Amino acid sequence: MNAESTKCLIIGSGPAGYTAAIYASRANLSPILYEGLQPGGQLTITTEVENFPGYPDGVTGPELMEDLRKQAARFGADMRQGIVTEVNFDVYPLEATIDDGTVIKAESVIIATGASAKYLGISDEQKYNGLGVSACATCDGFFYRKKTVAVVGGGDTACEEALYLSNLAAKVYLIVRKDYLRASQVMQRRVFEKDNIEVLFNCNTVGLFGEEFVEGAHLVEFKGTDKERTFDIAIDGFFLAIGHKPNTDVFSKYINLDETGYIKLEGNTSATNVPGVFAAGDVADPRYRQAISAAGMGCRAALDAERFLASK
Ligand code: NDP
Repeated sequence: MNAESTKCLIIGSGPAGYTAAIYASRANLSPILYEGLQPGGQLTITTEVENFPGYPDGVTGPELMEDLRKQAARFGADMRQGIVTEVNFDVYPLEATIDDGTVIKAESVIIATGASAKYLGISDEQKYNGLGVSACATCDGFFYRKKTVAVVGGGDTACEEALYLSNLAAKVYLIVRKDYLRASQVMQRRVFEKDNIEVLFNCNTVGLFGEEFVEGAHLVEFKGTDKERTFDIAIDGFFLAIGHKPNTDVFSKYINLDETGYIKLEGNTSATNVPGVFAAGDVADPRYRQAISAAGMGCRAALDAERFLASK
């Protein structure tokens, strides 16, 4: 077994992880950061990012993440490819096992493993990913000004995304698999009051079509009943809003999670229930889920880790 020690282990490489690495390196904590399954995180699958402060002309998601990574590297953060497969937070130093068998003994841990958007699981979602398929209206909605888009889902996120898009796009379909919305009453009312949102109840998406970019979706209404019928809608963008899954499985034995799996933070800090373990970004934030808010949380987690170590 290859064991190493560090003052600060950062797990995850989205805006939260890299920002934590910038702050922790500058505080002389010599952090080790494991990048995980998707180095750079969710932003590497978006195209243009126009709302991250400091980039007046916008920046692509991959470029932004590369800039953050370089900034962390400049201060000496040790960034590595690898996935944390197991942790032991019953011991101190805290332990994390990496997929290559390395065990890291850490005096502090920052969890920044993010959340993954849920997809329907149809192959066309992969085919048109970045070519009309998106799981983030705030990231990509702007590119659909005056166009027609569809949002899938019937929860608060779907309603929020549909409302956001309705202020940009000419027309928004909301594709809901049941005959009701699960969203809160207030969100439902807002959706129904919008002239350019059409709710398609009892509908499931079974495919997408288009030459290069999405040009439409194949839908089935009343699937599995005698009333079943298939029809197509013409759309330029297809937005998934059927929920996110926080990447917390590996920590769930030790870390307090809420009922949907997000890490619960202690008070107005980045601390978890385990002393020395902090969390930042989407893994602990079902509400805002923005690159800039995740980066802010990464900064806070590094400052909290530094203070925790100083107090010991
Ligand atoms: P939810 O789990 O609340 O809703 C998911 C929606 O997607 C449901 O309508 C569900 O349908 C639908 N869905 C799930 N899987 C599929 C599928 N395979 N095909 C078609 N439809 C599918 O997730 P949200 O992200 O909307 O919300 C998560 C939490 O965050 C909630 O507690 C929500 O209230 C909260 N939130 C609050 C906001 C606010 O207060 N402004 C904004 C955003 C989120 P079905 O109903 O049939 O299961």
